[in-house]
Amino acid sequence: MRIENVESVVIRLPFDTGDKAKEWRGRRTLDYVLLRIDTDAGISGWGDAFGYGAFRATKAAVDHMIAPALIGRDARDIAGISYTLQQSNHIWGRYGVTMFAISGVDIALWDIAGKAAGMPLHQLLGGKTHDSLPAYASLMKCPEPDVVAARTAAAVAEGYRHVKLHETTVPAVRAAREAAGADIAIMIDTNCPWTPNEAAAMAGKFRDFDPHWLEEPIFPPEDFAALAALQAQSGIPIAAGENACTAFEFKRMFDAGAVTYAQPSVTKVGGISEFRKIAALAETAAVTIVPHSPYFGPGFLATLHLLAAMPRPSMVERFYCTPEASIVGDWIEARNGAFRVPHGPGLGQDPNPDVLRDYRDKDA
Ligand SMILES: [Mg+2]
Repeated sequence: MRIENVESVVIRLPFDTGDKAKEWRGRRTLDYVLLRIDTDAGISGWGDAFGYGAFRATKAAVDHMIAPALIGRDARDIAGISYTLQQSNHIWGRYGVTMFAISGVDIALWDIAGKAAGMPLHQLLGGKTHDSLPAYASLMKCPEPDVVAARTAAAVAEGYRHVKLHETTVPAVRAAREAAGADIAIMIDTNCPWTPNEAAAMAGKFRDFDPHWLEEPIFPPEDFAALAALQAQSGIPIAAGENACTAFEFKRMFDAGAVTYAQPSVTKVGGISEFRKIAALAETAAVTIVPHSPYFGPGFLATLHLLAAMPRPSMVERFYCTPEASIVGDWIEARNGAFRVPHGPGLGQDPNPDVLRDYRDKDA
């Protein structure tokens, strides 16, 4: 089954947060780099390479660095392709857009494998342990406490039992805790703002609000020794991993005792193949995998399948906003705080061609 064609598509989706904040990190759209791999067997697979503000660079990496090496390869040789792409591209960096592009390719190859076998991806990965997966609401950053409180209350009213904030101030976290009440888990994602000493001071202030975890409190994110020290000293579980790629980096993280919760992102770490290695390492290190998945396309579906095939699945991150259209139907909708697991072959849902047409970035 030879690869005949690779096509990348940038999708830019306007979104709504239900309140006055219509921008996110200065942007008004959710930007994704999807890619389709076509084979001579007539089977095509879809992948998802991390985009966000780097979508043009990611697309260029897919088109110019990665895709040419795929033409003519056997699509069934997923492990071999993953290895040769990583090996031949290592001089451009083992993090960032190179690995995002490789991740997208790997997801598409697994989609093809599932379709060729007539099996959903979770079946290929060992079977489904759960029919539904608990979700957590991942609120967009908005430091105004009244807005944080309103969003938290809305998520709880929808059935979420876990709510994550992207906030760095005491008033914002306090507002969320007061809106949620004592029974809802609150996670605090800070996105690497502080030195180790600053992080220790802030962790002390956040302790009053009983955080379920404190996420990426220290810059740089690969300072695993500092994260380990903070976790030990504060007693607050640390979550991190969305900025790590490959199993080797996660092994360093786990060996350092840096985290209680590891957050590999399937569109960043090297795809499904690399994610599985990370999950195996996490199991041996008694670390819980809670994937990073603030996206709404094939990468999100891949995350559902990966978690469904884990013996003790944790939670699925649901970016708490409403995209103007859904790329993959209603699989992105949590019901009573949980997701269903797709059951069709491969990822179980191809992107909607109308959405691809209507939201495609013509300039990218
Ligand atoms: Mg995060």
